[in-house]
Parts: sequence; C-alpha cells; structure tokens
Amino acid sequence: MRPDQIERQLSRILLQVSKPGRYVGGEYNSVVKDWEAVDFKIALAFPDIYDIGMSNLGIMLLYEQINNQPDMLAERVFCPWLDMEAVMRHHHIPLHSLETRHHLQDFDLIGVSLPYEQLYTNVLNLLDLAGMPVRSRDRDESYPLVVAGGHACFNPEPMADFIDAFVIGEGEEIILEIARALQGKRGCPHDEQLRALAGIQGVYVPRFYDVTYHPDGTVADVRPNVPEAPERVLKRIVPVLPKPFTRFLVPNIDTVHNRAPIEIMRGCTRGCRFCHAGMITRPVRERPVPEVMAAIEEIIASTGFEEISLLSLSSSDYVYVHELVEAVHARYRDSGLSLSLPSLRIETTSADLLDKLGDTRRGGFTFAPEAATEKMRALINKYVPDEQVLEAARAVYSRGWRTIKFYFMIGHPEETLDDVQAIINLCKAVLAEGRRILGGKANVNVGVSTFIPKPHTPFQWVPQDTREMVLEKQQLLKNQLRGHGLHLRWNTVESTELEGFLSRGDRRLGRVIERAWKKGARFDAWDSEHNHDLWLQAFEESGLTPWFYTHRERGLDEVFPWDHIDAAVHKKFLKEDYLMSLAGETRVDCRDRCFACGILPKFKEQRALTEPMAWECPPVKPAAERRRGGGERAPNVTVLP
Ligand code: SF4
Repeated sequence: MRPDQIERQLSRILLQVSKPGRYVGGEYNSVVKDWEAVDFKIALAFPDIYDIGMSNLGIMLLYEQINNQPDMLAERVFCPWLDMEAVMRHHHIPLHSLETRHHLQDFDLIGVSLPYEQLYTNVLNLLDLAGMPVRSRDRDESYPLVVAGGHACFNPEPMADFIDAFVIGEGEEIILEIARALQGKRGCPHDEQLRALAGIQGVYVPRFYDVTYHPDGTVADVRPNVPEAPERVLKRIVPVLPKPFTRFLVPNIDTVHNRAPIEIMRGCTRGCRFCHAGMITRPVRERPVPEVMAAIEEIIASTGFEEISLLSLSSSDYVYVHELVEAVHARYRDSGLSLSLPSLRIETTSADLLDKLGDTRRGGFTFAPEAATEKMRALINKYVPDEQVLEAARAVYSRGWRTIKFYFMIGHPEETLDDVQAIINLCKAVLAEGRRILGGKANVNVGVSTFIPKPHTPFQWVPQDTREMVLEKQQLLKNQLRGHGLHLRWNTVESTELEGFLSRGDRRLGRVIERAWKKGARFDAWDSEHNHDLWLQAFEESGLTPWFYTHRERGLDEVFPWDHIDAAVHKKFLKEDYLMSLAGETRVDCRDRCFACGILPKFKEQRALTEPMAWECPPVKPAAERRRGGGERAPNVTVLP
C-alpha cells in the first residue's frame, strides 16, 4: 500500500479509535525528509504505544544521529493500541511510519528498541502488522533487516529466532556504521549483508552462532560458525557522550514523561549486586556543566517544555551535581522551570543539595534504600543505615515536602520474613518523623518490587523467589503498610515470573515466545493486558518449564546462554562478588578503589584515543563526598590489597 492510500484509509478510521493523536504524526520538531532524495531509509520502532515510546531517550538520540546524515532518514514507528490494531487488520492497513506513512517494508533497515523483556511479543506483532514473517530465517532480502538494541539485548538469545542482528551496548556511533555497511550491500542475500555487520564491534548476529546443550538442558557451548563472527561480542561504548539531544519532538498527546531528559552521567560505580544497568553501562562518563546548561537553554527554546529531568543511574554521585544545581537555580529560579533529579542516593543527598533543589522541584523526593536490615544491605552491597534514612527523611520533611517515595526490593537471596518486617518498621519510623514535623500532612509512598536475577550481574547464579514466597512477603507488607499517610505499590507475581524467565532464557525460548504471541500475548508490560496462562500453556506445548529459568540455582561453573556476549565486566569478578555476598562481605564504591572489574583492559585503546582521557577509572569522587571524606563505610568492608 502506498503512503497516500494509507493516509486516505487513516482519515476514514482514526475517529473510531482512542487517542487518534497517537497516529497522526506532524509533531513540532519532527523531521520529514524528501523520501526520493534520500538514499538510506531507517525505521526506528519502539514496540509499545506512542505514549510510552515518545518518552524513550534512546530512540530520540538515534533519530537525530541518522537525520543529521544528508543521505539518510529516520522515521518513527510505534505499536498501535489494541483498538487500532483491530481496525488496521480489518482494513488491511499495514504498519507504517508516522513521518511519511511509508509501509515498514519500504525501509532499508528496521531498528527496534528493546529496553526491557516484556516488549518481546510486541516485536512479533509489529513485524506481523507489517506483513513480514516473524522468524528471521523466513525473511529473505526482499525484506529489510531487523536490528535490535537496548539493555535487554545483553541476553539476546530468547529473541534470536526473530531478530537478524543485535547491537550490544551504546547505539549512537554504531547505528551509522551499520547503515554505511548496508548501503553497499542492498539487494544482496541477507547472509552476505549480515556477514558485513558481524565484523562490526558490538554487533551480534545469532544465526552465525550454534548453541549446544547438555542433557540436563543447560548450555554446553555457543560457537561461531562463520569467520566474521568473533568468539565473544564485546559491547560498544561511546568514549565521550555526544552533545545532548535538544530538539525533542513535542508530542501530540500526553506521554508517560511530559518532560525533556538530559543524561548528565552514564554508568555507575556503586556495584549494587542486583543492578543490571549498573554493570552493563560501565564505565562512568560525566557531562560537563556548561554542556548541560547549554542543552537546557536549547530545549526550552526549541520545545517549550517546562520540566527538565537530569538523568543518570545515581545523580547525587554526579561529580558536578552541586555546581549544576546551583547554576540551574541561579539561571532559572524565577522562570517556572521545574527540574527533576531522579535516583538520588540517600548517602550523597546532602541537606545542602536539597536546599538548592528547593523551588525548582515539584512533588516529593524518591530514595531507593532497597533493603532494611544490615544483613540484606551487605548482601546486595547497598549500605544505607537506618539512621541515614531517617536523617534524609527529616531533611526532606523539614523543608516542607510532604511526600517521600521509597523503593525497596523483596526476594533477594537469604531473605527472611524478618527482613521484610524491617522494611515495614523503617517506613513507619519515617512516617513518624514526618508526623512529628508536618503532622497529618506527611506521606510515605512505598514501591516494593520483586528481585529478578539478571545476566551480567553478581546475582546471575541465584534462584528467584517462588510464587509462594513472594505472595507471603507481599501479604505481610499489605497487612501492615496501609492507613493514613502510607501507600504501598508492588509488582504482580506474574509480571515478575515473566520478566524472570525472559531475562535468563536461552534460544529455546523463541518457540515459547512465538506460541504465546500466537495465542494472543501482547502488551505484556501492562498488568491489564498480560495474560500469564498463555505463557504457561506455551511453555507446556514447547516441552519447557519456567522453573528451569526462574527458580533453578545455577552451578558456579555453568555456561550461561549470554556468556558469548561480553559486557566487559569479567565473569570471574562477578562470581567473586557473588561469593562475597554470601559471606556478607561488601565492596566500597569503586570511585574509592578500583576492583579491576574488566572495563579498563577492554577499552584501554579506545580510552587512549581521546585527549584528555575520555573517562577516568576509577572516576573522580563528587566534591561533597571528597569534602566529607567519602560515604559512610559499611562494616566488614573488603578493600583489595
Ligand atoms: S575498572 Fe575499576 S574503577 Fe572502573 S568500573 Fe571497573 S572496578 Fe570500577
């Protein structure tokens, strides 16, 4: 179907669906190039609805990188919501781009963003709505290649049957290398195109790797079967963060985050043992303050956004955090601009920082202590003593903020009901502080997620809590964390199981995913849409069990389905850290002392390419901490000789 025909069809049906603004495009700052005049066309697909995808910074960074090339264009594609999908299938309207209504098959390359696993069935649905076979092997060169990137791709195996190639790591530079490599290969057999990609560092082409299994179902080996494919695929990093993206597209409808994000720092050195992002985004790279300030100026001028969020995994560890907040305060104090600084760490969020954040913030503060007992804090290597939590609470409430949001996690190894009870006691103690300072206006919002062991982390060996264990712990929380001023949120046990088996799955999960999709699984990231029974049926029909992936303890020497994907942190380092956790030993932030996780040797050449060095390992400590002489030390800390 041609774009004009799609346009005509849409004008007839859009008023039949909810939020038609999702499907009209034409946003302020969107880039519409002359299709015939541009050589290489890339569709950037986010496998969920517009309201979610438009807030994804990754897609926007690639959108700009590609559209900055005179001979390339990038256009956006999102999944239609259920009502629109039904109408599209009824009228045989293929999935198309927002910018020019081009059918997905008209593009030279389809880039799919995969930040989390619950999006997998939507990828199959997206390809099917574009009239493309969902299996990679069933698509020949008459179809565009499908390349995926995002944090979930650090274990690409469950989606290996459907995706032609994966980008492991950061996409800003590699997307152009991939496009350039394919420009010269158009019309060639997919195998030939993919061999060209397999030679690019950071690209993983699953069909060029054979997987063998032991009789017990564990992986025996993953071996390349063509010379272009490396034994292990080393992730890509950008040594220096590119200039921040500022020309945000102003959405047609409200999106999940109606604000403009600026990444102030990438990577984290805290070493929390459950944290996937903290391990796969190393090393730390920080943006200089003038660059952030210039970006804020440009964003306001080019979008009119009134809220800016300064993003990182641990913003109060950003070395220039005080300087930046002071600069924003001085420049925008009376402008009405709101600044959000998510993921503040209690240890490094000083009263001073709170004051400076003062009137540029709305709403409350969010902290993530994750655990509430010494044992669990040492085990997860996130040491935030009770007194520090209460001190931070007093600091927040005494400045007039009424709401503190806490994130905790249940389900970590060795956890008992006493450890869960400690979470309840701590939240109640915080509320008591709030009441003492603000009376009945104080609120504590508690988000309790369930721990899911992730690849490339020290906890990749551990079994996930069983359904019964999770429900018992959640019931304890629900019974006690309620009443005036206390609000509890938790994850469903079904969504935890789903993410659990998809996170540590192997290539055989492809048939489970396809069966679940054929049975109707879609929008699995939405509790309202996730139908867990479909997945359990799909497992049964595939002769596999979820237990094998979620609740099974891994042998210390087990080969993992993702071991050929190199996140640049040594498996030996992760194993050592796991064993330390079982011994109740902790590690300090590696800004204090480098533990030789593996990053340095893997990227030393690349690091040396830029003068001064693109990034420091260990990175410099934030001024406040240098002044304070480092965060509170956990007991029985292990400092390598
Ligand atoms: S190389 Fe050292 S300082 Fe750098 S991230 Fe790894 S442990 Fe931390």
